[in-house]
Parts: sequence; C-alpha cells; structure tokens
Amino acid sequence: MPDMNESEGAPKSGASTPDVLVIGAGPAGSSVSTLLARKGWKVTLLEKDAHPRFHIGESLLPQGMPVLERLGVIDQVRACSVLKLGADFPNDDGTYSVFDFRKSLREQPEFAFQVKRAEFDKILFDNACAAGVDAHENTRVTAVEFGADGTPTVRAGDRIWTPRYLIDASGRDTFLANKLKLKQKNAKHASAAVFSHFEGVRMREGRDAGNVSIYRHTHGWLWLIPLSEGITSIGAVCYPEYLKQRTGTLEEFLMETCATVPELHERMSGATRVADVHATGNYAYECTRMNGPRWTLLGDAYSFVDPMFSSGVFLALHGAEKCAEAVDGILKQPADEKRLQRKFEKHFETGLDEFKWFIYRFTSPTMKHLFSNRRDILGVERSVVSLLSGDVFDDAAVIRRRLRIFRLIYAITSLGMAGKAWRNWRTRKRQVAIETLDETMGTP
Ligand SMILES: Cc1cc2nc3c(=O)[nH]c(=O)nc-3n(C[C@H](O)[C@H](O)[C@H](O)COP(=O)(O)OP(=O)(O)OC[C@H]3O[C@@H](n4cnc5c(N)ncnc54)[C@H](O)[C@@H]3O)c2cc1C
Repeated sequence: MPDMNESEGAPKSGASTPDVLVIGAGPAGSSVSTLLARKGWKVTLLEKDAHPRFHIGESLLPQGMPVLERLGVIDQVRACSVLKLGADFPNDDGTYSVFDFRKSLREQPEFAFQVKRAEFDKILFDNACAAGVDAHENTRVTAVEFGADGTPTVRAGDRIWTPRYLIDASGRDTFLANKLKLKQKNAKHASAAVFSHFEGVRMREGRDAGNVSIYRHTHGWLWLIPLSEGITSIGAVCYPEYLKQRTGTLEEFLMETCATVPELHERMSGATRVADVHATGNYAYECTRMNGPRWTLLGDAYSFVDPMFSSGVFLALHGAEKCAEAVDGILKQPADEKRLQRKFEKHFETGLDEFKWFIYRFTSPTMKHLFSNRRDILGVERSVVSLLSGDVFDDAAVIRRRLRIFRLIYAITSLGMAGKAWRNWRTRKRQVAIETLDETMGTP
C-alpha cells in the first residue's frame, strides 16, 4: 500500500524521482495516476486536501461508464449513486422534454450516475492507491520550476520531486496555467454559479426519477440533480450582470433565482437546505496550450466549459485515459513527445468543440424552440442524445455529421426568428459584459 500520509514517504531533503508526478487527486488526477501505475510507471500523486471532501460536479454521462468499468470502480460507484437514465429540459407549457439515453444514435451505455463527489472522488483516489500510486493528501504543491533540460522540479512545502513528466490536474486552481500565464477567461461564457444541497425536493416519477433537470431562467440556467439518501443538488448559473444586482445573502439569492421558475419552485416547496451555499465565480476559461516539454494540463486544469450538459467529469475521465496513453508513449520514446502531445490535444479539442457549440447557444430562443419541438430528421435528434451522453470522441464522425445538420437546422430556424434571435444576442452581450466576481463571490 502506498504512503497516503503527508508526514511520511516523501523526502524532506533531496529529491524523489518518480516517472510521473500528478498535481491534484480529483477524477482526472486519480484516474491518470491509476492508469499509468498499471502500465508499470512509478507515479506520485499530490493532493492539497484529504478525501472525502466536498466538490461540485455530481451528474455523470453514459460515456464515462466504460471508463469507470476499465478503472474497476463501477460497482462501488453504483452502490452509492442514483441511476440517471436521461436529462430533461422543461418546456414553457409546464411539460418537459426528456433526452432518454436509450435513444442515442449508436449503441452505448444507457445509463449514468448522479454522485456525491465526496464519495466518488474518494473511490477513485483509493483506487489509485491500490494500483500502487505513491499518493499524498494534505500536500499542496507550492512551486514548479523547469530546468534547462526541461526537468520539472515540484515543491510542496519543504519536499521536492523531480519527475520525468508532470501532469497538472489541479482543477479550477489551474496551478501550472497560472504560473505559465496560459489561462484565458472565456468571453463567450462569463458566468458564475451558486449552489447547495436540499432535502425534501419533489422527484420526477418512474424512469425520470434520476434525470438531471435543466431549467432556463432570464439570467442563465438552473440544475436539479437527485442524489442518494434523499438529497438533491440545486444550483443557479447566472450572468455577471444579474450577480452584480445581489443585495442579500447567497442563500437568498439562490432561493430568489429558483423562485423565478414556477416548476422548480413547486418542486422545492417544503424542501430544506442541508448544506452550505457555495459559489463559484470566474467561470469558464481555457488555456492557450495543453502541453509543453515534459508537462501536460489535464481536466479542469486545462479548460472549463459551462457544465450545462454535465460534461466535466466525463472530460476528466476520458482525458485521463488518453493522457495516460500519450504519457506512456512519451516515457517509452521521448523523441515522440511533440507528436503524441499534439495527437492528444487534437483529439480532446475535437470533442470539446461539440459541447461548446451547444453550450454557447443553449439559452438562445432558437435552441429553446428546437429542444421543445423535437423531430428526429435523419437521426439528428438521436445525435443530440449522443452528444448529451458524451459520445463525441472515438470514431464519432457519424455523430458529428448529424450534429452539423443540426447546426444547419439551427441557422435556418434562427433566420425564421431573426428579430427574437437578434434581441437575445444583444441582451446576452450586455449580460456577460460585466466582469464576473471572484471565486467566492463575497461572503454568504
Ligand atoms: C458549478 C459547477 C457545476 C458542475 N456540475 C457538473 C456536473 O453536473 N457534471 C460534471 O460532470 N461536471 C460538473 N462540473 C465540472 C466538474 O466539477 C469538473 O469538470 C471536474 O471536477 C473536473 O475534474 P478534475 O479532476 O479536472 O478537477 P477537480 O475535480 O477540481 O480536482 C482537482 C484537484 O486538485 C487539487 N488541487 C488543486 N490545487 C492543488 C495544488 N496546488 N496541490 C495539490 N492539489 C491541488 C484539488 O484539491 C482537487 O482535489 C461542475 C462544475 C461547477 C463549477
């Protein structure tokens, strides 16, 4: 069993030289560590907190299920999760449209899970330890330097490591990207989120009981995610203009925003808040580079897109598998570094772009119209279900082609509602123009 304790294992003086050092034990960091350790590499994983710890990002995608299976944790995850069979998007008339995972364009797992991240992340972390990863909790990386030959020197307090390769999976802390000044705020999607856990929220019935529900509100969108033990995660994603208007506490702000959506308000009547209200500002960003000599950025440490389609954990898991393949190749054949890094980056960006296109347009009147008036012309609707399941990467050309037809339908529909679309575009521009508040968005 590897050392999991900050006070043991790592050298106090002199450097330890693992093959790979990973910063951050979220889904991306723990998974890539496990996979590389299984390939026989000596891996060190450093985590600033200790598991279990709270984290947001609770709704998983079907395409993440095979990754959990390959990691060997799917039964453990299943045991503490709610089964998610689809995503629903309420319509104006009080009904809702379900995107059922069975109705995807090509064969895939027909389910995913809604997880409490404290439990989920601990399962992945313990799995990394069991794979032989030298894992340290309560160990915050404080500095990284690169030598003339590119060798990274990683410091956590008075401990030092000089790995052959460095993977930064530090999540929204974007440790390395900050240091190298690679992070760019995503101007197209400046938002922030306010969220908490509740008890006593009304669930949907039958097959829909485990759905994630996504509601639009005038200033953004809201999520409702059923979790185990009767807990429901509810959060509001809002544009900066609206956030700046906040006068009361974060809780009041969250409750007032939920109350603007009648169906959500009704589902929450009689519910009690059972956790702190959290907030995340400076929302979406991406880095100008994913790789450099002897380093790679993985998961949220590279980019963060609005989690409207619950893509974050899947991108972390899928990215971890592809990153492990690339780093394995690089360690075996250092001369191939640039080629393997480019291949990984191109693969990742191709899938990410599909999510981004939908996310940027989700609150537009055109998208609202198309999501409420669905027709499976040429398999286009099924391709949207595939997208919502995360099926945008391996051999997904057939899905991407259908999604291009959707884009065409979107463009034609927008022309038909040009006035509304133009007004929405102008409003949106104003809503996101104000700088977002900081990560905590002030005191609760
Ligand atoms: C409001 C909101 C809602 C979301 N909803 C969803 C959702 O429903 N579904 C979904 O799939 N995704 C969702 N996401 C996205 C999801 O949370 C992330 O995409 C996912 O957690 C990324 O995993 P990761 O491993 O890259 O980063 P993280 O899970 O953030 O893990 C990074 C780890 O690095 C550690 N760390 C940071 N700095 C250091 C350091 N210097 N030294 C050592 N350790 C460090 C952190 O403590 C953390 O444990 C949501 C995100 C937000 C903000």
